[in-house]
Amino acid sequence: MRGLGLLQGCLRRARQRMVPGAVILLYHRVYSPVRDPQLLCVSRANFRAHLEILKKKATLLSMPQLSRFLAAGKLPRRSVVITFDDGYRDNLEEAKPELENYEAPATFFVASGCLGMEREFWSDELERILLSPGRLPRGLELEIGGERFEDDLGDDRVYSEREADCHAGWDVTHPARPTARHRLYEALGKRLREAGRADREEALRALRAWAGEEGSGRPDYHPMTAADLVQLSRSALCEIGSHTLSHPHLASISVREQEAEIAGSKTQLEGILNRRICGFSYPYGGKADYDAQSLSSVRKAGFEWACSNFPGLARRENDRFELPRHLVRNWEGARFARFLSRWL
Ligand SMILES: [Zn+2]
Repeated sequence: MRGLGLLQGCLRRARQRMVPGAVILLYHRVYSPVRDPQLLCVSRANFRAHLEILKKKATLLSMPQLSRFLAAGKLPRRSVVITFDDGYRDNLEEAKPELENYEAPATFFVASGCLGMEREFWSDELERILLSPGRLPRGLELEIGGERFEDDLGDDRVYSEREADCHAGWDVTHPARPTARHRLYEALGKRLREAGRADREEALRALRAWAGEEGSGRPDYHPMTAADLVQLSRSALCEIGSHTLSHPHLASISVREQEAEIAGSKTQLEGILNRRICGFSYPYGGKADYDAQSLSSVRKAGFEWACSNFPGLARRENDRFELPRHLVRNWEGARFARFLSRWL
């Protein structure tokens, strides 16, 4: 297998020399959390190390620049684009100052219906409720979109600080689920992801009541406000794109809902920022997370290009409405440099 991997790497590099393609990086947060089961956070020190390497080894482009180069069929060598999804507040507070220090452009795709929501994104809330140390009721019964969801935490209803510390490094790519809480986190996360917005919100209300949770959660996990977004967009380095209104799993909702989520977000962002919004990224972004209807709604809404979430190089022959992107993890500089050298 290793031999095959090396051969593929050689072929990719040979093709890259003849027909250059761009690497589009996908970040979510610049933040150092206690737990990061979805692997969405990059520490500020690591983000700085990535920028240091990119400034030395790559030609950093904005998404609109890349789009123009792709259309013209002339791409600078070693082109890299930085993007962020979702619209967390740390994009403004932590990422923007570093981007400015390094004069690095970036595009921020924002779930515009979540702007100013004084709550955590639902997946973070689920993580906080289930994976924080403390005591929960043993049995859970919920209704999600008319279907019953039941689980039993057994002895794991009590979860000590020591156990939580011990499993703090767990993430969803690990094959094992160390406790009943982790199994529930994964199963419920999958169900809620595919539920409609109203069903998901109702299930979350029931989950909060079950856990005895109130309040708005961790402020560090809140999305930006509209005023934050305006501030971010004032930097010449920061481009804003759409990531729907409520971050739905597009392939699981109706055609009408998809159109409302996609076109509605464009209209809302253009109203807030008083400028045209040209780019879109699909929530979750894997091939199974959107469908032909999503692609058609994105074109119909008037976007000029859209980003997905699967690895690959962006070349002229790609569909400009399904540009590949590479998820960036909390890698130290050396690991990030190795990743880049495999693709550039
Ligand atoms: Zn997203």
